[in-house]
Amino acid sequence: MSHVFHRHTKHSYPTAMRGEGVYLFDDKGKKYLDGSGGAAVSCLGHGDPDVIEAIKAQAESLAYAHTSFFTSEPAEQLADKLVAASDGDFERVYFVSGGSEAVEAALKLARQYFLEKGESTRRRFIARRQSYHGNTLGALATGGNQWRKEPFAPLMVETSLISPCYAYRGQQDGESAFEYGQRVANELEEELLRVGPETVIAFVAEPVVGATLGAVPPVEGYFKRIREICDTYGILLILDEVMCGMGRTGSVFAYKQEGIRPDIVTIAKGLGAGYQPIGAMLCSAEIYAAIEAGTGFFQHGHTYVGHPTACAAANVVVDKLTTGLAARSADMGQKLNAALKASFGQHPNIGDIRGRGLFQGLEIVEDRDTKSPFAPELAINAKIKKAAFANGLGCYPMGGTVDGRIGDHVLLAPPFILTDEHITEITDKLGATFAEVL
Ligand code: PLP
Repeated sequence: MSHVFHRHTKHSYPTAMRGEGVYLFDDKGKKYLDGSGGAAVSCLGHGDPDVIEAIKAQAESLAYAHTSFFTSEPAEQLADKLVAASDGDFERVYFVSGGSEAVEAALKLARQYFLEKGESTRRRFIARRQSYHGNTLGALATGGNQWRKEPFAPLMVETSLISPCYAYRGQQDGESAFEYGQRVANELEEELLRVGPETVIAFVAEPVVGATLGAVPPVEGYFKRIREICDTYGILLILDEVMCGMGRTGSVFAYKQEGIRPDIVTIAKGLGAGYQPIGAMLCSAEIYAAIEAGTGFFQHGHTYVGHPTACAAANVVVDKLTTGLAARSADMGQKLNAALKASFGQHPNIGDIRGRGLFQGLEIVEDRDTKSPFAPELAINAKIKKAAFANGLGCYPMGGTVDGRIGDHVLLAPPFILTDEHITEITDKLGATFAEVL
């Protein structure tokens, strides 16, 4: 009997034994193409010798030192590299161990920023329906993923939720994509006016929506309008790039493709590429200055903040991303998107194929013309995950609330070292899976 507390108590899992490039191998020697990089984590693939060497070297010289006593070279270097990769949009980097922690830190920093400025009435966040920002109570409260939230609702602060930017389902007949984006962005202004802008801390959103919608990019102009509204009403813009950041959408920071500058951004997953658990929150000079000029102390912290071994691994990841690997994600992503469209563009149950870089999603529908989803009881996404896994493909199918019903999508987020042959293997295995399940 296993004593590991597995999340699904009734499932049994194969034991992962080895990773090599884009492949994982289990204890029976079965090979899986890691088509979703776990959950959009393994951007370098498995067994990268440079990251492994950096971890070894760091563990030998200094595995850990608590940040209330010391800073460390790997943390300082990594912060410099991330700030440089943002072209100076941010000034400070707060390191944590994962995505939810990064979001918690962002929410608390945003609240403290306003406290430092004497604006204590601000205590509410606005986020979007069908979003996910983490499983800890603060991050969960900010997300709009209802099934995850419902049991814990009494323990969480109330968050206002507006529509996501989800053109496939939201854009109306006769409306251009741009007009649609402006319309849904304007919901932020409507909600601010409804609750009173002086009560709002920040708007929180993923630039490209991952788990809840399946690699849905915003339409042009959406985030520019969001930024404008945040500025008009003096609220902060927090962008959650835990899943879509670190080259996943083809640029080191996903928000760069929107032509805006957020006040705070959160990253994790790809930052450690699965070699070490690490996340970070980056904030603007203005926010840091308010803390510096005020109490001089960010009232937050975890034991493993700025963990040197984790930072050493992430330094190698960021070096690789900024010297060609993020660009490779953009190029290979275009090829993957084209291959998916060639294979499934006419499939009667594939309603939409979308994404950016190596962050691609397929929306599964019962009827392409009406876009009606399969009945939730059919658990299509769970069946696809199971069948794909049996076929040797790891992919990330999920259901998200669509018009009050549960819709299904498949998310692909393979390592950036993917080749043309791997793309063919993905489409072949997905094709076989769809033939079995749909
Ligand atoms: N934010 C986003 C956008 C995510 O996709 C996730 C995880 O999937 C998180 C936050 C939470 O990250 P973690 O699971 O590392 O706590």
